[in-house]
Amino acid sequence: MDSEKFFMRLKEKAQDLGFAQIATIPVVLMDQELSRLRHCLDSFYNGNMSYLERNHTIRRDPSLLLEGAKSIIVTLISYKPEKKQTLGKPGIATYAYGKDYHQVVKERLRKLAEIMLDLDRNLKFRVFTDSAPIFERSLAAKAGLGFVGKNSFLINKEHGLHTFIGSIVTDAKLYYTNPKEPLENLCGSCTRCIDACPAGAIIAPYTIDARRCISYQTIEDKSMYENTGESGHRSGMVFGCDICLDACPWSKKGKTHSIKEFDPLVLSNGKYVTEIDWDEWMDMDELFFKKEFKESPLSRAGMKKIKNNIKYEMANNCRGRGVDPEN
Ligand code: SF4
Ligand code: SF4
Repeated sequence: MDSEKFFMRLKEKAQDLGFAQIATIPVVLMDQELSRLRHCLDSFYNGNMSYLERNHTIRRDPSLLLEGAKSIIVTLISYKPEKKQTLGKPGIATYAYGKDYHQVVKERLRKLAEIMLDLDRNLKFRVFTDSAPIFERSLAAKAGLGFVGKNSFLINKEHGLHTFIGSIVTDAKLYYTNPKEPLENLCGSCTRCIDACPAGAIIAPYTIDARRCISYQTIEDKSMYENTGESGHRSGMVFGCDICLDACPWSKKGKTHSIKEFDPLVLSNGKYVTEIDWDEWMDMDELFFKKEFKESPLSRAGMKKIKNNIKYEMANNCRGRGVDPEN
């Protein structure tokens, strides 16, 4: 089968599996991205995310992820919810409403990659979604799937910002769809994301100081607020933050996702994860959390951390997700 026809088959299969878009690109070096990362590390913007200090050789050259790697298939899958959380509830970032995307996206990527074996049983591939030292957003942008906005999200003109990026690195030589020049950056003079960030974490366009970012503080930073001496609330967010995503005019783009696993988790007591109240969170016991949230991204932070985030908001008199998604 000629390589363009094969790409069309791959595209069809991707659509059947619920992917919003797919592109292919030969493996590329990521020198610029690495030097940007090094600048962030020199400025300590990574906080305690020490994994960003490792694997720089692979980050620069993704072909090192697989022997003989020639191509990368880059995909987008939408997680845009039917409706956002009600204002006033402890805020959960939209991507975390349903099942952990790592598992869901990887399973679909494997199914997609398997059709390459029809071409040649000896082909090799590895699948990734936020699970390998790759500059995924830049890769997706280079592949032609969008541009990286000032808030550091990938922005796709058709599907907006609510997308997960999934990649397949393979030793197959494919038909490549990447544009010769990167897609135009359409942020222009807009600064809505920067202005909306309650923490001042977008310290310059395209640069986030993770230590200030609510997403980092509520998930990755394991210190508890009593010890940090921080002040000011986090706009009601207790797991992650997508205020700068909501603020972006491009976030209105895109249809509601079609992946049932991304629907809001329903607990055994019938309650949606998005509807759990402040006091209900504080009354929750560890066993219940472990059982109910074992497949949820919220398990990454753990119950103690989430409760601590809630206490932090209560101590700072904030009892509500801070941004009305309709505005
Ligand atoms: S995720 Fe939240 S805190 Fe972080 S940069 Fe965006 S708006 Fe600011
Ligand atoms: S809010 Fe404006 S500046 Fe920020 S990413 Fe969106 S378009 Fe770009």
